[in-house]
This record gives sequence, structure tokens and C-alpha cells, in this order.
Amino acid sequence: MKLKVPENISSLVPYPPGKPIEELEREYGISGSIKLASNENALGPSPKAVAAIRDNLGKLHRYPDGSSYYLTSRLAEKLAVNPDQIVFGNGSNEIIELLINTFLACGDEVITSNPTFLVYQKMVQARGGVNRVIPLKKIPGQHLAGHGGGTPLGVGHDLGAILSLINGRTRLIFLDNPNNPTGVIFSKADFEAFLAEVPDEIIVVLDEAYVDFVAPALQIDVRDYLDRQTPVVGLRTFSKAYGLAGLRIGYGLMSREIAGYLHRVRQPFNVNLPAQIGALAALDDDEHYYRTLDLTREGIAWLTKEITTLGCTVFDTHTNFFLVDAGRNCRELYEKMLTKGVIIRPMAAYGYPEYIRITVGLPEENRRLVNSLKEALAELRED
Ligand SMILES: *Cc1c(COP(=O)(O)O)cnc(C)c1O
Repeated sequence: MKLKVPENISSLVPYPPGKPIEELEREYGISGSIKLASNENALGPSPKAVAAIRDNLGKLHRYPDGSSYYLTSRLAEKLAVNPDQIVFGNGSNEIIELLINTFLACGDEVITSNPTFLVYQKMVQARGGVNRVIPLKKIPGQHLAGHGGGTPLGVGHDLGAILSLINGRTRLIFLDNPNNPTGVIFSKADFEAFLAEVPDEIIVVLDEAYVDFVAPALQIDVRDYLDRQTPVVGLRTFSKAYGLAGLRIGYGLMSREIAGYLHRVRQPFNVNLPAQIGALAALDDDEHYYRTLDLTREGIAWLTKEITTLGCTVFDTHTNFFLVDAGRNCRELYEKMLTKGVIIRPMAAYGYPEYIRITVGLPEENRRLVNSLKEALAELRED
């Protein structure tokens, strides 16, 4: 084929998703595997969401409500914001894409960190924008007890360095808080000092995919900033705390003006019917939500203790996953874990080859993870 593919597209690297369980079992001929690689909810989906979706399957021949009316109304009530400050998407990933497609012209710049959620930079590149990237900075006290022997790398957003990259072509700044893959957060005071220096025409995007797992006293409430001179957009998702990653639904909180532009650009039926029904039910499933938070908190504490004992360095985290410095190239460790039926996430694609990222599982999954990791590390030392 003689395709004419623009350079920004031909040089794009596909997103490396966590390995699906079915794929692992097919390739290795094993069963009973566990996946602790994609920050999914170990408890499964909200049971209320599942029941509501089941009750509505007979409506699948209809187009969904293009305005997600009931879901938007309920969320607006729950968050005490105006319905016209909410935009739903096919995952918060779609809101990221919409912001980039709406506000970026060819050659405009977007500032992100490295490592961070890989989707921002990919979408900027696909759009013909320019990625300006600042490495995460080292933060004293964030590299916890234990020693993997690897070089401690940066783990927190370097807000000062981000400010220094701003110029006349900067349109958007993406900050995931907590950061994926490190789990580290910045404070409200740091955020406010930063915002005060950002020129008014630049949109600051605060990706709060893991905000549910952050202690309330440490959360930055993005609602306080929606109508400021410097526009702030908050991104949230049903994929993590609500256990609905497979449904694909997330949303942005923003000023009415920004929402208006996103609505013009988005597809008319971007949020499917089961997603609207499921998310609406999940919003009121407090039992599942709080069980998720408890399970996560307990899992993080237990795993941190156990994995540190294995000689790895574990980072302090404010999410449902944590970063581990194994002190060795993790490609083999990842492969070894796969043969034991445990899927974790190697961090080479994020530029941290000696690190792995592990999602908190159910207690029995966490035990299996620790046992497999112990065996794998011992076997690698022998090889
Ligand atoms: C998981 C995650 C999301 C969620 O994306 P969805 O499209 O809503 O599933 C967004 N941002 C970050 C940083 C994440 O880790």
C-alpha cells in the first residue's frame, strides 16, 4: 500500500495496555491467573450498577441520551456543581482527547511530566501538537524504607520547572494528581502558588482519576477553581473506585464556557447506554465505594510491609497501586511473574526500567503476589 501517513502519526507508539488475563492464559497454557496491572477495582463492579444495566438491556436498540441527562443531573446534585459544568466521556480518556482536539492547533504546545499517564502525550502527537515534557522531581521522604539498589528517580510533578516552559504557544498543562505511575501528590498550597503564575489563557487540567483514594485532608477540591481567571479542568472516572473500567465512562468538571466548546466537538452519542445506566446506579452505591476504599487502604499497608521485606523499595502512594523499585531490570521479573500467573506492570514504557507498578488486589491475591515475587526474585538471583 502506498499510504501517505503524516510523520506525527507514523512515529506514534501504540499504548501498551496491561496484559489481559485471557491472553496470558492462552499464551502460557495456564489457568487461575491474577491481574494486578491496570489499577482496576479488585472487588469487581458496583453490584448496583450491574443490576441496573441488566434491567436495561432490552433498550439496546435505542440510541443513548446524547446529553446523559439523568446522570448529569444526579452528579451535579451530588457534587453541588451546575449540570452545565460537567462533560461526560467514553472514559475520562475521551475528555483528555476532547480538550486536546478542541484547544490545540497544529504546532501548539502542551506541557506534561515524565513519567505520567501515557495518553496525554500520544493524543497531543496525534493532533499535530508539540509535547514539552518535564521530568518528575525527586521528593525527600518519598523513597521509603528498603533498598532495591536502583537509582532513586523523580516521583513528583516539578511545578516550578513546568512554569519555566510556558510560552506563547502553550495551550494546556496536564497534571495527574496523584501521579500515575508514582502515586505521589502535590499539596493544595503548591497548586495555588502554581496557578497564580500560569497565564490566564492556558488551561490547567487536573486529572483526579485516583482522588477517591486520597485522604480528604490532602485532596485539592477542583470545584473551587472552575471559574477562576486561569481555567482549571478536573478529570474524574468511574474506572477505578467504582469498578467500571470496562464500561468506559468518566467526566470533566469545567467552566460552562469550556464545556460548551467540548460539546460542539464531541460525538453526539459518546457515552453508551449501559455506561449511563451503570454510572448512575454506582453513584449511589456507597457500600461498594467505601468497601473499595477500606480494602485499598489495608492492602497498601500490608503490601508495603511485605514487599519491603523482600528487599525492594516501595514508594509512598495515595492511590490503589504503588511503584516498586526492584533494583534490577524488570523485564525478566515481569516475564517470570507471568509464568506464575501473576500480571504486574513493567515500567520500561514509562522510562523506568528498574521499576514495576502493582495494583492492590483482594487479600488472597496480595498474598499470592508476595509469594510469587519472593520466588521470582530468588530464581532470578540464581539464574
Ligand atoms: C486510569 C486513569 C484514567 C482513567 O481513564 P478512563 O478513560 O476514565 O478509564 C485517567 N487518568 C489517569 C492518570 C489514570 O491512571
